[in-house]
Amino acid sequence: MRRLPIYVLIDCSESMIGAGMTGVQTGIETMVRTLQRNPHALETAYLSFITFDSRAELKTPLQPLDEVQVPKLRVRPGTAFGSALLLLAERILQEVRRNQPGSKGDFRPIIVLITDGQPSDDWRPPLKELHNTASIGNFYAIGAGDDIDFAGLKEVTDIVLNLHQTDEQGWAKLFVWISDTLSTASMGVADGDEKEVMLAKLPLSIEKVDDTHWGSDHRNDGPPRQLFLYGLCGVKRLPYLMRYGFDPHHGIYHPTAAHKLDQENADFGERGGRLPPVDSRVVNGCPDCPHCGSPGAGSCGNCGTVFCGGARQDDGKSVCPGCNAQLTINRGDNGGFKIRASEG
Ligand SMILES: [Zn+2]
Ligand SMILES: [Zn+2]
Repeated sequence: MRRLPIYVLIDCSESMIGAGMTGVQTGIETMVRTLQRNPHALETAYLSFITFDSRAELKTPLQPLDEVQVPKLRVRPGTAFGSALLLLAERILQEVRRNQPGSKGDFRPIIVLITDGQPSDDWRPPLKELHNTASIGNFYAIGAGDDIDFAGLKEVTDIVLNLHQTDEQGWAKLFVWISDTLSTASMGVADGDEKEVMLAKLPLSIEKVDDTHWGSDHRNDGPPRQLFLYGLCGVKRLPYLMRYGFDPHHGIYHPTAAHKLDQENADFGERGGRLPPVDSRVVNGCPDCPHCGSPGAGSCGNCGTVFCGGARQDDGKSVCPGCNAQLTINRGDNGGFKIRASEG
């Protein structure tokens, strides 16, 4: 029995928090259920999920479709795309059966990559390694949002797609498209075909990227287009993530959103402590705390924790939720304190 291996690589960097993460979580659940209703897919398709943030993680090893458990996704700092490619090469080498004298191996694997940011590691040597390991003709790279290095993705594969509608609906349409394409692919291989997989018809919210159009205006240089700061609510002591967008005309970052982090992500603070420092003067203000609604935030001179204005007491002092020190808030607007930021 020849199998059709499908590897799904998911970027779980913090830029995915919010609609991206919810959209992908719901999307992969729907995709698996849809494929499980397709007899051709049930017969041939095997699925694996790999996620990447500051490192790559094998969430689901290659499994028959009817046994697949959909992983629970979590956001973390970093976009270690290179590590994900290396892990993929390793898994393909281990899991995909090669042609043997007298028996045919598995079909060429299908790889679906979903990312919304710029890689934070060196991914070109791992890509070479992947190409040395396996024939990866059917590699679909899907970039979501405005921060994608499309020229880089074009180096990975010819089939690069731009999801420019990144709300709940846009993500839902993307996964309908992926499910359709995978269904078609599994029907093709059931017929004994080994052709290139036919892509399902793209909805308007997804555009195929061709290099001439994207190569020049999406270069991966200059300051990162997004910045993320970790905060602790001074009232509820829960972590949150502040999202900033770069304003190229003034060279500073403006707050665009704040996202609650749940207890599962409580080690964000610790990870945040290892992030490179950023000068608060390039950061223009703070979003309101998503836990208690307080405006503003300051950083603790003792432990470096950034925390919301809700920690302030009547005497003007605050207790740092990170280290419990009593302190006068070192406010962002008088400039110059070092905080730690991640680039998603
Ligand atoms: Zn708060
Ligand atoms: Zn502190």
